[in-house]
Amino acid sequence: MSRPYDIVGLKAALEGLRLEDNPALVKQKSRDFFWYSPILKSQLDAVVGDLVVTPRNTAEVVRIVEACHRLGIPVTPRGSGTGNYGQAMPLSGGVVLNMAEMRDITQIGPGRVVCGPGAIMAEIDAATRAHSGQELRMHPSTYATASIGGFLAGGSGGVGSINWGGLRDLGNVLSVEVVTMEASPRVLRLTGADLAKVMHAYGTNGIITEVEMPLTAAYDWVDIIVGFRDFAAAARFGNALGEQDGILTKLITPIAAPVPQRYFLRHRALVPDGASVVLVMLAPHARDAFALFCKRFGGAEILFDAGAVPTVDRAGLPSNVELSWNHTTLRALRVDPAITYLQVLYPFPDQLALVDAIHKRFPDDEVMGHLEFVRFDGRITCFGLPLIRFTDAARLNAIIRIHEDMGAPIFNPHRYTLEEGGMKQTDDVQLAFKREADPQGLLNPGKMVAWDNPDFDFASGKTYLYPSLEPSRA
Ligand code: FAD
Repeated sequence: MSRPYDIVGLKAALEGLRLEDNPALVKQKSRDFFWYSPILKSQLDAVVGDLVVTPRNTAEVVRIVEACHRLGIPVTPRGSGTGNYGQAMPLSGGVVLNMAEMRDITQIGPGRVVCGPGAIMAEIDAATRAHSGQELRMHPSTYATASIGGFLAGGSGGVGSINWGGLRDLGNVLSVEVVTMEASPRVLRLTGADLAKVMHAYGTNGIITEVEMPLTAAYDWVDIIVGFRDFAAAARFGNALGEQDGILTKLITPIAAPVPQRYFLRHRALVPDGASVVLVMLAPHARDAFALFCKRFGGAEILFDAGAVPTVDRAGLPSNVELSWNHTTLRALRVDPAITYLQVLYPFPDQLALVDAIHKRFPDDEVMGHLEFVRFDGRITCFGLPLIRFTDAARLNAIIRIHEDMGAPIFNPHRYTLEEGGMKQTDDVQLAFKREADPQGLLNPGKMVAWDNPDFDFASGKTYLYPSLEPSRA
């Protein structure tokens, strides 16, 4: 995949900046967790950039995008590369803009932190906890390695969403600084409604160079695993616990048997055969109330309580964070490469009936239950991240169709474009901002269908294929 870019000219223009053209390192930084999806794996495996550039500050970002704009070279921003839809992969080659060095935490105050986009979320929390007992409201399960800029541009929510909803809900991001891709790049400060221009836009319409995030009170969250006789009981428990206004949790994750027994290798001895579980992160002061809630609910057996196990005996045991959200899939994939997953919304108020009906519709070994309870528009409901035993693309599409026909929309994690992975429609705000901020279409090409092919019909059932990927068509 060689392209006619003037990389020699670009290197001269960027003299003094951190540049990397070692092919092995460029290839490494051109990849993310796209291989999670058997579909994306076959489509994107050959994707590679030409040069990795690592800016240290906003002025260097401006210099890089100005030079790339002048030379017509695409720029694909990258945080830690943990996105699992190929979001950070440079489909047209060019520059991989590695934001990892812009990681300074510059301000912490009551309820807010300001930092560079490359700051790792666990490191932000370590700093805000030490400063004033505060932490981020939510984070993905890749908390230990993922950057905050990558979360804003490529993620959606995660641990903490049971209290705070999704990342794009009003108030969950305070402001961002963005550099545009123009002849004279502008440095903009976006707040309020303008945040929607770049949130979850995969870096297709601006480079985020600083973020300001809201904070909440930090706790020494206690990991608890509760066992149930079946998945329906686990789901009911998760829903009822989410509705307990006085019991402070940060994670409520029902997972069906045999997932914990097969794939949670370090925990499997704790989970009886046939038991489904709910993973909970609980505030320490809520323990008594939680124990009472379990007793009243009935049929809930506490299988593991990290607060009751000496630290030394927990060594090597993954935390509930790293068993939940997309880490559930990761654990399964490590044991069985034939596993993949879907992202399902079970709309309020019928979420439990829908979960039950959908799981009854499929063999237990083909669609394995995994729910994440969240607060969605002020109500408790759940997303599903069911594990799927992959046979072929046609069957995967059939499983998706059955979910949608039964009333559970799918956010398809087997698509690399914004629209097909999301609402299957153009985001007019993001498209308009791209016209303004990236008029040559050089930022992360191929990820916004509305830009490349305005006539593409999302209702056609066809998958959009970016032209540079044609030869590797599966
Ligand atoms: P990257 O993967 O590097 O980038 C993500 C996107 O943001 C790309 O499109 C990239 O071009 C763009 N980007 C990066 N930095 C910038 C910038 N400064 N300016 C503009 N654009 C930029 N996601 C969730 O939302 N919730 C989860 O719970 C979750 N769990 C996961 C678990 C596993 C095991 C895996 C593999 C993935 C998971 N993800 C989850 C997806 C991903 O880890 C997160 O969204 C993460 O926050 C991405 O951060 P990153 O630094 O790795 O971003």
